[in-house]
Amino acid sequence: MDAILETRGLSKQFLGFSAVSDVSLAVRRGSIHGLIGPNGAGKTTCFNLLTKFLPPSSGTIRFDGRDITRMKPAEVARLGLVRSFQISAVFPHLSVLENVRVALQRARGGSYDFWRSDAVLRRYDARARELLHEVGLAGFADQPAVELSYGRKRALEIATTLALEPTMMLLDEPTAGMTAEDVDRIVALVRRVAAGRTVLMVEHNLKVVEGLCDTITVLTRGKVLAEGPYAEVSRNPEVVAAYLGS
Ligand code: ADP
Repeated sequence: MDAILETRGLSKQFLGFSAVSDVSLAVRRGSIHGLIGPNGAGKTTCFNLLTKFLPPSSGTIRFDGRDITRMKPAEVARLGLVRSFQISAVFPHLSVLENVRVALQRARGGSYDFWRSDAVLRRYDARARELLHEVGLAGFADQPAVELSYGRKRALEIATTLALEPTMMLLDEPTAGMTAEDVDRIVALVRRVAAGRTVLMVEHNLKVVEGLCDTITVLTRGKVLAEGPYAEVSRNPEVVAAYLGS
């Protein structure tokens, strides 16, 4: 398998408590991979380890052929492994377009700077408009971000993540707290942004997982309980007992 992301024996202890324990995970390039499990299973800790927000207690992480175990979050992001909501700041009083411009400026030039002239910012317009089109917000470019529905705000956050030109995106519960209509929109959006990229997502809504993910990994108590296609994993009696049946 051509794995873009691979962990070996990844573990994280907090004061002796194993939040993530000996996790070996391989995410196939170009796939949408779901990470599921009950609350406290270690999903968030895994994401924090993968994006280098937390150092592992042991184990290794390889991304796109490189050992990233000891890299800093910004280095990993530059290599193309980006967590959505990493730039979670959607500036409420900037327009939707301005939000994406700021993200592009930040992605390409390091820190952003509100004092730069409009002329400089306008250079990012073409790409910003492309990204808004990609996430279905082309018609909202001039609206203040604060006026977007919750679902569309998540779409805007994804656009600001795409500004970093990721080859792999980690999505942390993209449909959390959404109305059914927004869920459908986000599912379509994830499918669109996954084209040509790899996606690893934590998601509680199993219908969403079933509809989107090629492969799922089930975590319980910090350990991998099962891995495979949804249809197969969802029939695994251990998984049913630990999670799906609960
Ligand atoms: P999930 O995202 O699957 O709900 P988490 O990764 O948030 O699970 O948590 C896994 C376990 O690790 C939980 O028991 C949680 O209480 C514990 N944990 C997470 N972060 C910390 C921390 N910073 N300090 C101590 N314990 C933590």
